Amino acid sequence: MGAEPREVLRAVYGYDAFRPRQEEIIRRVVGGEHALVVMPTGGGKSLCYQLPALLREGTGLVISPLISLMQDQVSALKQLGIRAAFLNSSLTRENRRAVRQQLRNGALDLLYVAPERVTTGAFQSLIDRAEPALVAIDEVHCMSQWGHDFRPDYLRIAALCDRLPGVPFVAATATADTETQRDLLSLLQFSDDSLFVTGFDRPNIRYTVTRKRKGKQQLLRFIRENHHGEAGIVYCHTRKKVDSTAAFLTDEGIRAVPYHAGLSDEERETHQSRFLREDGLVVVATVAFGMGIDKPDVRFVAHLDLPKSLEAYYQETGRAGRDGLPSNAWMAYRYGDVVRMRQLLARDTENLSPAEEAHHWKQQHKLNAMLGYCETTACRRQVLLNYFGDDAPDACGNCDTCLNPVETWDGTVAAQKVLSCIARTGQRFGAGHVTDVLLGGDTEKVRRFGHDQLSTYGIGEELGRSGWKSVIRQLVAANYLTVDMAGYGALKLTSACKPVLKGEETVELRKEPKRSRSKTSTRKKTAPDLPDTPEAEALFERLRTKRSALADEQNVPPYVIFPDRTLIDMVRQRPQTRREFADLHGVGKVKLERYADEFLPLLR
Ligand code: ADP
Ligand code: ZN
Repeated sequence: MGAEPREVLRAVYGYDAFRPRQEEIIRRVVGGEHALVVMPTGGGKSLCYQLPALLREGTGLVISPLISLMQDQVSALKQLGIRAAFLNSSLTRENRRAVRQQLRNGALDLLYVAPERVTTGAFQSLIDRAEPALVAIDEVHCMSQWGHDFRPDYLRIAALCDRLPGVPFVAATATADTETQRDLLSLLQFSDDSLFVTGFDRPNIRYTVTRKRKGKQQLLRFIRENHHGEAGIVYCHTRKKVDSTAAFLTDEGIRAVPYHAGLSDEERETHQSRFLREDGLVVVATVAFGMGIDKPDVRFVAHLDLPKSLEAYYQETGRAGRDGLPSNAWMAYRYGDVVRMRQLLARDTENLSPAEEAHHWKQQHKLNAMLGYCETTACRRQVLLNYFGDDAPDACGNCDTCLNPVETWDGTVAAQKVLSCIARTGQRFGAGHVTDVLLGGDTEKVRRFGHDQLSTYGIGEELGRSGWKSVIRQLVAANYLTVDMAGYGALKLTSACKPVLKGEETVELRKEPKRSRSKTSTRKKTAPDLPDTPEAEALFERLRTKRSALADEQNVPPYVIFPDRTLIDMVRQRPQTRREFADLHGVGKVKLERYADEFLPLLR
């Protein structure tokens, strides 16, 4: 052995530098010690076990529940010249036998295995005979009941540690809060110094929340202005909306396919594999889509409906930009979404057991946090990171509120008017009627309930209808008001109102931005970081076409041949010789041999 991790990084992967903490972890594991690695999606966890497996004697075993991904992961490794294989239920008996033979012969650097296989007797005796270089446990949060995706299979994997003394274990996950981390350390019997946690921030993702007017039109404009020809995911709540949105985008010339539980298995599979294999396809999906989507070049994630928690939102938006290139998380929401979500949560709230009630309140709380995020006047990244207990910068400079600071106004008097109007009308009406009363509207409902006789009738002519809606929305977000769960979205006062009504507390509200061009991103090019010239664009397109052709020939996703960053690097560096080609990001020895002659003619 004796090779330096950094040399292997350059020679095999074609990367120049480690990401934060990678090198420490790799050195520790090469030295035979365990590591629990908690890094955000795209942080580079895989390298933390792949590289030590190359540097140590024997085969590295990787336990991963994402069976549908194994094939692509293994193809990607083979492209780098790494000897990799997988064992799961999708293989024939014969293929499995062949892989076991390779393992016995020491012909594998890495072997990916499904969790249920690891605990079979046959597999155990196999690894007892050939000592593994290391064992990596991916998605290790599945082992903890504190995590959000507990799998009993995983508990049995912990027992492997006892069976394989002296073999380092690398356990990795992107989602483990402090409780889950502690639990995992104790389940795995790792010492405290084996824990490596990097921040949760995804600096390359730009967060934007906009008010929904005509959602689909706004989405279309967002895609056209920022992501033409690029891959993205659009989330909607219902199957019907998924279908209609996908059809709408297709009509407008954007290649889009639907994905939800109402489609046949076959359709879902085709759409998912097209998303992985084709350049620039948009998937419109319910939340059923995404678990295990390991596509590095998803350029945007859009939400046309409000997610039910910040956890869900962060996980879904986290599917953008794994490759570290600039990406967008864009959401359009309106007040009605909140009312609807509360109603969904409110179903069956009678006769709850105490445990169910606690769960119910927890969900309410999560929805409030989500709403607070949408209505914040502060940096969105700050709100997110604080929510997850992470340190946050003062202002990130890469979210809508940082880029277009929100103007605020003293909304104390307006808030008092709304609150007392709601109190006077008996806390039985929704935002529409309350606004009518404030504006002195002459509606059937106003007359029927005699609300034109109230002292709050017509006291709000200084703001228009949308102005009052905005005030109400913000008061809900700030928890001065709640939306009655069991019915028609009636607004009710919370205990937090008192100081406002008494004039002891002021209320700062955000000014709604004028309908502006969506300034989500300043770039309009096909790829981030590409020089802004027609020649550069045209060259990038030619390189992309070449890449697609090579990918098709080998039946692998295009990013397995080269990530976008390598193509962008080609456009910027214009290598003319093999030696120059070898310096590109993502070009190691094997890819140099395979692809230099394919791409160099296009660059000359
Ligand atoms: P994770 O498993 O943490 O989600 P991956 O290990 O898949 O992330 O890494 C995400 C992407 O970043 C991959 O394309 C990977 O090749 C790339 N990557 C990882 N480490 C580095 C590095 N040190 N330099 C450049 N790219 C890296
Ligand atoms: Zn910010």
